[in-house]
Amino acid sequence: MQENQITASEWEVMRVVWANKQTTSKYISEVLEDKMNWKPVTTKTLIGRLVKKNKLSTIEEGRKYLYSPQVTEQECIQESSKEVLQQVCSKKRGSVLYQMIEDTTVSIKDIEKMQKLLEEKKTSAPEVILCQCTPGQCNCSLS
Ligand SMILES: [Zn+2]
Repeated sequence: MQENQITASEWEVMRVVWANKQTTSKYISEVLEDKMNWKPVTTKTLIGRLVKKNKLSTIEEGRKYLYSPQVTEQECIQESSKEVLQQVCSKKRGSVLYQMIEDTTVSIKDIEKMQKLLEEKKTSAPEVILCQCTPGQCNCSLS
């Protein structure tokens, strides 16, 4: 994982900030105490890490700090889904996506969107995907 990537716990904090645009650590703590059963100090630690990673910005207002997102939810989703796919052999990425779809309930609208995208992709898709793995990390070339 890259140094400034968001962990699963930090993701919980980011979701509160994304949903509220600008919020206090008190509010974030309240939400996550309910959902995750975290003590405020745990949430504060996570907030501190996110500020360090430049994912949250903070301004002082009176006696409290207000936190705002420095990255959009969409950017983070893209980054983390890219990361998942980069962890596997390029030949296996198709089946990772297949597995994700199989394991997820999606709406008819989502399905129609994906069908359209797949039809477009099909017109320029290669016949085979080549393995580009580091030797020793993959057995693709043997099969
Ligand atoms: Zn490979």
